[in-house]
Amino acid sequence: MTPRATITDAFNILLQPERFKDYGPNGLQVEGSAEVGKIVSGVTASLALIEAAVAARADAIFVHHGLFWRGQTGAVTGWMKQRLALLLKHDINLYAYHLPLDAHPDLGNNAQLGLQLGLTATSRFGDQSLGFLGAKTDGGSFAGALALSEHVKKGLNSPVSLVNIAQAAIKNIAWCSGGAQAYFEAAIAAGADAFITGEISEPQAHYAREMNVAFIACGHHASERYGAPAVAAHVASQFGLVHEFIDIDNPA
Ligand SMILES: [Zn+2]
Repeated sequence: MTPRATITDAFNILLQPERFKDYGPNGLQVEGSAEVGKIVSGVTASLALIEAAVAARADAIFVHHGLFWRGQTGAVTGWMKQRLALLLKHDINLYAYHLPLDAHPDLGNNAQLGLQLGLTATSRFGDQSLGFLGAKTDGGSFAGALALSEHVKKGLNSPVSLVNIAQAAIKNIAWCSGGAQAYFEAAIAAGADAFITGEISEPQAHYAREMNVAFIACGHHASERYGAPAVAAHVASQFGLVHEFIDIDNPA
């Protein structure tokens, strides 16, 4: 068992939340037991994940999407009451890191998404430098947008939406996990031949056609499954804690 405060420090030192302007509090969102022996990681602090963490006898949950976001009313009713009540009843600590988890150069969502897809970043782009720009780790290129989208579909085991089936070879690839469709224009400006993110909105389909840059939406959840377990496993191994990643399937 390791003191909660030690674990909190380790996450904060690793992810440096003070460097980011974010949509919710990063770090310990809900205080639980003073000692931690087991961490469960997941993408979102949903009721299903909290129930699974209770069953797994976790002392802490580490997620990308926590409970608190800008724009909420602040009322503890409905789903918020259910989730909080279960955490508090079982004395489980909830850690949530949003943008700092996307950004970490080795363990974050974008770095791990790149690893999963065989891509290596050589630079960053976009607001708060969250976008990754690079190419295939083996130095090669994809025959075209369709080949890249098939590669993403297979690599993530997730359906993808592809706009602009450009025939030209694809070398420079930009990616940003989650709902980063608004990063598309910055990706184009940075010189990307294709952009991979979780979601697409209406305007991006037109930009993809008009700017001749492929847009691949691979699912918000599917694109953010890799950072939380990488960070939680890293910190767990620092202190000899048990770690388990629990994937609660989400088609969105
Ligand atoms: Zn997200």
